[in-house]
Amino acid sequence: MGTALRQRSDVVTAYVALGANLGDAAAAVRAAMDALSDLPLTEVTRRSSLYRTAPLADAGDTPGPAAGGDYINAVVEVQTTLSAPELLRRLQALEQAAGRERPYRNAPRTLDLDLLLYGSGRIDSARLTVPHPRMAQRAFVLVPLAEIAPALVPRAQLEAVADQVIRRLDA
Ligand code: ATP
Ligand code: MG
Ligand code: MG
Repeated sequence: MGTALRQRSDVVTAYVALGANLGDAAAAVRAAMDALSDLPLTEVTRRSSLYRTAPLADAGDTPGPAAGGDYINAVVEVQTTLSAPELLRRLQALEQAAGRERPYRNAPRTLDLDLLLYGSGRIDSARLTVPHPRMAQRAFVLVPLAEIAPALVPRAQLEAVADQVIRRLDA
């Protein structure tokens, strides 16, 4: 992003959660970080470390045949002048390009890109809810988010997910 974008008054700081647990998940997450930095009108300003977490059991879901392995997760901060719906469309296009399929809820995935926060925006539309409604229950979101934006994650939230095992990968 050049000077032109930084001078615009409508630039928004947003946070995107990345996750993958099929194939070379760490490579997929790193590639997605690079792809995010290539989005128009968008600059990646902070990248968390990569983290490894076990898949969460989710009562009621049907396990599929292609069981995935551990998840690799991370969070990035972006500065963008894309609107929130346009940013979501871009995230979904990157998921598609990575071969994302959705055979059932919480299925293993090549790449998941969720919009966690879009400035101080609150959005509740059919396609987009921001802040992400489940972020406060997920160590794999809160821990990397706290690494790059500690002021955004209250200590009590981190303590509430402390029983979820998450391990930071060596750089
Ligand atoms: P979860 O949302 O619990 O993390 P998921 O990421 O596996 O689940 P997806 O299949 O990636 O879910 O997305 C399902 C739908 O969620 C998408 O079609 C999208 O329109 C909608 N959605 C709503 N809010 C958001 C958001 N903040 N970020 C990404 N997708 C969202
Ligand atoms: Mg998700
Ligand atoms: Mg998603």
